[in-house]
Amino acid sequence: MSSVPRFFVARNAVDSTQVILSPEDAHHARSVLRLRAGEAIEVCLSDGLVHYCTLTEVEAGRVAAEINQSGASTAEPRLRITVVQALPKNDDKVEQVLQHGTEIGAAGFFLFLSARSVARPDEARLKKRMERWRGIVKAAAQQSGRASLPEVAWGGSTSGLPVLTGDNAFVLHEKASVPLRHALENLSASAPDLKLLVGPEGGFTEEEAADAASRGAVVVSLGPRVLRTETAALTALAQILFVRD
Ligand code: SAH
Repeated sequence: MSSVPRFFVARNAVDSTQVILSPEDAHHARSVLRLRAGEAIEVCLSDGLVHYCTLTEVEAGRVAAEINQSGASTAEPRLRITVVQALPKNDDKVEQVLQHGTEIGAAGFFLFLSARSVARPDEARLKKRMERWRGIVKAAAQQSGRASLPEVAWGGSTSGLPVLTGDNAFVLHEKASVPLRHALENLSASAPDLKLLVGPEGGFTEEEAADAASRGAVVVSLGPRVLRTETAALTALAQILFVRD
């Protein structure tokens, strides 16, 4: 990992060859990292490039840098995997999926409530959680040298699993007979994205799995042992990116 601090910025933060950091990133650069004008930073716009920059201004309220050079990142998997995770009861579990899933290479996370999700956060709690979850993903993306910041989205409560006909979607189910590795052999080599659905502690119901299968999802197994929800998500990500990075 590079020791140069990396910032994920919105596209409108870049004006020709100059980057203006958001107030939050500016504060982080100036007051937490204590960076000074003349020091190097790396900036990513989630466009697959890393922009190598030099800080030109580090003032309260304004931190700017100039782009010296840009290069393609080798850290982004070609297959964009969205982890569609039914919210576990325990906060720690979802945080592990977000943190380690980002390191392994997930493109994004879609959290939702399935039939057996026990946690039902109210709006105020959810707002706080989403902020915390996005912070965890950002820190993991910086630490692991990702060039894109995985998105964290909230899907709320759904009737049936969030799969649209035509999606490339794998539903992880401990009772499935098709091993994930076999399903991967049938995934088109040119498929650009994949949804990976993971159940909560109590698992998906048979109805949920059957309904998703009727809309084209492949219901897959990770083997004969029942894994914890967070273990299942991370194991599946690693297995998929092992063959399709
Ligand atoms: N309630 C179930 C286990 C659920 S495990 C029971 O007690 O038997 C939580 C989630 O992890 C599941 O919904 C599934 O998505 C995933 N999972 C765990 N083990 C798995 C396996 N061997 N194969 C596929 N998915 C698995």
